[in-house]
Amino acid sequence: MTDAPAGGWTTGTIIGLDHPTDRLVRLRLHVEDRVDHLPGQHYVVRLRAPDDYTAQRSYSVASDPDDPLLELMVECLPGGEVSGHLHDVAEVGDVLELRGPIGGWFVWKGDVPSVAIGGGSGVVPLVAMARLAHRLGLRDRLRIVALARTWDELPYAAELQRYGAFIALTRENLGGRVAAPPYHDELAPYVDGAERAYVCGSVGFASYATRLLEETGMRTDAIRVEQFGETG
Ligand SMILES: Cc1cc2nc3c(=O)[nH]c(=O)nc-3n(C[C@H](O)[C@H](O)[C@H](O)COP(=O)(O)OP(=O)(O)OC[C@H]3O[C@@H](n4cnc5c(N)ncnc54)[C@H](O)[C@@H]3O)c2cc1C
Repeated sequence: MTDAPAGGWTTGTIIGLDHPTDRLVRLRLHVEDRVDHLPGQHYVVRLRAPDDYTAQRSYSVASDPDDPLLELMVECLPGGEVSGHLHDVAEVGDVLELRGPIGGWFVWKGDVPSVAIGGGSGVVPLVAMARLAHRLGLRDRLRIVALARTWDELPYAAELQRYGAFIALTRENLGGRVAAPPYHDELAPYVDGAERAYVCGSVGFASYATRLLEETGMRTDAIRVEQFGETG
């Protein structure tokens, strides 16, 4: 277990809000007494109705620990109680109840040479890792593989590409790469030399990507998984 920081309940004021695509909302929050996070950690966002009914969900931190604001990227799910509110209703100036940072296992401090694979919104914590690696000049220590059906369904696609991530789109050609899941020989250079792997995405994606890594030579006990399941 890593000696990761942990924060209690606090509040965050939305300072910036934009919609990079139809289904995504990016929130930039000023957090009261913010505890510095490690890349890979997440926050719980709790919404409260006037009758005190609450709903809370986890969201990974996308920002570099050095960023004065906390950045979250939320994918709006059909019928999604919390993601729908953040996407459709939340606005600049709103104050959200937050708890975090949380998580001591799925964190990357920049020390261990690693490969990180994310599917769709599962790339969000990987973006925090990549931003840290970029700032500290540690890009050789973190290789990123990102999967999505289309470019528009991949949060931070252009930024990840700038950091040298391998992007595999399964329903759209990208540059000279024909739409397909990643092939083992495409992954091999990213896995080669990695002492640890991070896998993040939906439950189905996590088991698929874990298997893919194992088949490409990654030791099972070196794979750390974060699943974006329901957190109710
Ligand atoms: C540690 C952690 C980190 C997370 N980080 C992020 C993040 O950075 N960005 C992000 O967008 N999401 C993230 N999630 C997922 C997030 O917590 C919520 O599960 C998601 O936003 C759906 O909540 P909702 O209230 O909108 O949907 P709900 O009202 O709970 O559900 C609406 C519908 O979507 C289905 N559903 C619920 N959750 C998911 C899911 N994760 N994937 C697919 N279908 C689902 C339900 O079965 C239901 O049919 C994270 C989850 C965890 C556990």
